[in-house]
Amino acid sequence: RIVLLRLGHRPERDKRITTHVGLTARLLGAEGMLLASDDLGIVQTLEDVVRRWGGDFYIKNNVNFKQEIREWKAEGGKVCHLSMYGVNLPAVTDELKKCDRLMIVVGAEKVPPEIYQLADWNVAVGSQPHSEVAAVAITMDRIADGEPLEKEFRGAELTIIPTKRGKQVIENIGD
Ligand code: SAM
Repeated sequence: RIVLLRLGHRPERDKRITTHVGLTARLLGAEGMLLASDDLGIVQTLEDVVRRWGGDFYIKNNVNFKQEIREWKAEGGKVCHLSMYGVNLPAVTDELKKCDRLMIVVGAEKVPPEIYQLADWNVAVGSQPHSEVAAVAITMDRIADGEPLEKEFRGAELTIIPTKRGKQVIENIGD
């Protein structure tokens, strides 16, 4: 079980990147995204994708991140904050893989400093600045059990049939 916590989303600037963080987490097997800001537009966009493309990924708007972390830990979950200042991912991949309830935290511009204390791991995806979308993608791919790209999304209105050229999409009407 993986849940993603998105901190610091600024509705006027980060819509696209937060949407991409959510889509990437969903693709790679997260059960949902907690948004520590108020942006119902993001919720609507992602819920629309889930409705059309299947699965049961959820989005929780405007969460109190400290409360979510407290509750997650109380239920035995662990917290992995992605930050370029942390321990490099290859050093902790095996530990993260063993964890069966993991909250992955990413920031936007600046994260509240207490997140470094609240996290069980502060993990760098390479010690260079880049993107929260890339950080989520690489981390989730490396800690996945099996092949995350072959996951099927149930209850989809639309399903792509992979093809060498062109586009093939099935519409599942009435499902
Ligand atoms: N300047 C910000 C800071 O010092 O915290 C980071 C901005 S970065 C665009 C936004 C988010 O991307 C970070 O909060 C972190 O979660 C993620 N990120 C960027 N580079 C990363 C790296 N090398 N390793 C892990 N996460 C990274």
